[in-house]
Amino acid sequence: AGARAPRRQTPRRRAAAQESGRPRNLNSRSPDELAADLAAMTCLHELSTRLHESSELEPLLEEVLNATVALQKSDFGTLQLYRCVSGQLEIVAQRGFDPEKLKRYRYIDRTAATSCARALRLARRVIIEDVERDRKRAALRGTAAELGFRAQTSTPLFSRGGKLLGMMTTHFRQPHRPSERELRFTDLYARQAAEAIERQHAEEALRTSEGQFRRYFELGLIGMALTSLTKGIIEVNDELCRILGYTREELLQKTWAEMTHPDDLAADVAQFERVMAGQSDGYSLEKRWVRKDGEIIHSVMSARCERRADGSIDYLIGLVLDITELKKAEAELRRSEAYLAQAERLSHTGSWALNLATAELFWSEEHFRIVGLDSAAGAPGYPLALKVIHPDDRLFVVEALERAMREKSEFETQCRVVRPDGAVRFIRSLAQPVFNRAGEVSEYVGTIIDITEARQAEEKIAESEKRFRLLAETLPQHVWSSDRNGSVDYLNQRWLDYTGMTWEEARGNGGHAIVHPDDRPALEALWRQANAEKKSFESEVRLRKKSGEYRRFVLRGAPFLSDLGEMLEWHGTNTDVEDRRRAKEELENAQQELARVTQITAMGEMAAAIAHEINQPLGAIVNNTNYCLGLLGHPEAEKKKRAALRDIVADANRASAIIQRIRGLTNGSRHPITTLNFPDLLEEVINLCQRSLTEHQIKVTTAVAKNLPRLRADRVQIQQVLFNLVTNSIGAMSQTEEGVLSIRVARGKLERNPTILITVTDNGIGFAPEVAEKMFDAFYTTKKHGMGMGLRISRSIAEKYGGYLTARRNEGEGATFSFLLPADESA
Ligand code: ADP
Repeated sequence: AGARAPRRQTPRRRAAAQESGRPRNLNSRSPDELAADLAAMTCLHELSTRLHESSELEPLLEEVLNATVALQKSDFGTLQLYRCVSGQLEIVAQRGFDPEKLKRYRYIDRTAATSCARALRLARRVIIEDVERDRKRAALRGTAAELGFRAQTSTPLFSRGGKLLGMMTTHFRQPHRPSERELRFTDLYARQAAEAIERQHAEEALRTSEGQFRRYFELGLIGMALTSLTKGIIEVNDELCRILGYTREELLQKTWAEMTHPDDLAADVAQFERVMAGQSDGYSLEKRWVRKDGEIIHSVMSARCERRADGSIDYLIGLVLDITELKKAEAELRRSEAYLAQAERLSHTGSWALNLATAELFWSEEHFRIVGLDSAAGAPGYPLALKVIHPDDRLFVVEALERAMREKSEFETQCRVVRPDGAVRFIRSLAQPVFNRAGEVSEYVGTIIDITEARQAEEKIAESEKRFRLLAETLPQHVWSSDRNGSVDYLNQRWLDYTGMTWEEARGNGGHAIVHPDDRPALEALWRQANAEKKSFESEVRLRKKSGEYRRFVLRGAPFLSDLGEMLEWHGTNTDVEDRRRAKEELENAQQELARVTQITAMGEMAAAIAHEINQPLGAIVNNTNYCLGLLGHPEAEKKKRAALRDIVADANRASAIIQRIRGLTNGSRHPITTLNFPDLLEEVINLCQRSLTEHQIKVTTAVAKNLPRLRADRVQIQQVLFNLVTNSIGAMSQTEEGVLSIRVARGKLERNPTILITVTDNGIGFAPEVAEKMFDAFYTTKKHGMGMGLRISRSIAEKYGGYLTARRNEGEGATFSFLLPADESA
């Protein structure tokens, strides 16, 4: 420190140095010299004492200047401070100059001609012995003349670190050069000045930082406190009051330890003790506080101790940043991240992000799972990541991505990925470009969805759809489907062919036109009900053919419901039953014909009996007539003749009635529908069979319930059934000792509708269980001359009326036939 040694010494200077007498040792000095040294030393001591006592810079600098002027016995002196911002020297103290004259020289920069400017440039002491004689100093002569000096010595003031702080200059009216001794002391004085300046700089710096601290303290961006060595609170700012929920007055009564969360106290105290022990100046930690209201506050805290000059700790400054919200947000984030991860897992959706600048790739946990890789290893970068894609798909994925990048557009692709275990998964990848401020795509952020299962399901659906179409097109029926409002969305080719309509004409409600106008209201009502009840429906309707002809169809519709049971659509078929219906009608006709034939056959069988029956009255008629003839001419026999003739009329009527009945049975024409009267009906049937019943000595019991519901039917057909059942029973009882035929007519129920149930029970030979159904087959007979048509015809008659005919074996002997007929609902 201090003035630098001159780079080279001119011989003249060396001579001057010798002349001034460099002290080799104290003994070689004169008493004057020693006295002067002592004075200078005393002055120096005083200066340094003052330096410690006074905090004011300028008086101190003035004293240093005075001491130097006195030391060098100069006529004037200036002390300048170096202003590092402007690079100028500024006079802050002067001695001996006319202040008015000096004003112009208050600021000196390095370009000036003065010794101080030169010292500033060279950063060392500059001595100008005589301005007049020194040719190089010509520029200074004006100034020197104005201010009245001829010689100058400028000593720079350096900080301990070697930074220039100022300049001390002594001026002499006569040419002059200070001695080495003077210069040595000057350097020591300069040191004091530099010390003072340096200290002031430090103080200023401290003041600024203290000011800053104050500002922060009051600004309240952060909680701040000054705390004592006993953890007490000396001062707090408003923010810390807010954070901890106490008033300032309350806080000043507390220690920070009491407000610290018990779980975090130990860590804080341990650090605090280290500071107290002088092992550190401060520390930072994350800690929790318990607010006045009991709420937990999360904070980041840092503490720093402030030391006194002697190094002892004065107080501590604590900074508290409330991060409770941050913590919550963090927890929230963690939670939402967890949710996201779960959502990803549940939806089989992974996410990814590709940074285009760095080719860095981010994969979410689920993304790793989908591609079958371990997340611990981290995502491979791009394009290495493409390796997970099936080799056959890689090219188009790259193309799609590159195209998206080029067009700065969305990216979407479906491809296969191959897991390390060889399993192939189908994925859909979707991504959005992220733009930076310059409008460039900086990133792609997207998702991948594992669609393997969905795709398999889709394939299955497509497959079954295909199968359905194939089936629908091969079925001999019309196949259709409609939405839940009945608007048709599919019709098979067969339908189109039948109606001659195009799909365009038929779609929606167009196809409904083919339903026969008379059938439409009923069909519509049925469909509406089925739609409301979400049930299948079936109806026979007439549908118009291309030719305009109507054919009968059975139209069946089934609802297609969603898993939640809501109506989605209708699927249905129309089956052409025209031919079947016609065949049935023809069959019925044929059966009727056959029934007539069987009746006639039965009649044939009964011919003898009938003949016998008619013979009897006819014989009686003949006898009576002969008797009457014999009595002719005998007036006294008038009474007898009258009685015989009455017998003849009665017999003739009886014969006529028999014939009438037979004619009624054999009459092949269709019969009128009438309300059936069962007692009469039974009587007639029994009468018809009377001869066989008598022949086999069969007892007949009948029971007809009262209040039977009304039944309108073809009387002859019903009679035919009963006649068949009764003749069969008689046949079965031909070998029975005491045959009993019982016929009951009772009320019955069929699906809650009133019916009439006729049961015919015999105690005949009965039948084997396996025959129960066979009996009703056409041509099944066990009789020598049987036709096997009786039961067949009877059943078809029963069914024609919506009833049934069944046979069952009795518990004991014989069989029971049940013939059920629905009654008129209106009854
Ligand atoms: P057929 O009387 O011409 O044989 P049916 O159809 O009337 O034709 O009867 C078929 C067969 O059913 C009879 O041959 C007989 O074997 C059996 N069968 C009908 N009724 C009875 C009955 N009441 N008891 C026992 N078997 C019966």
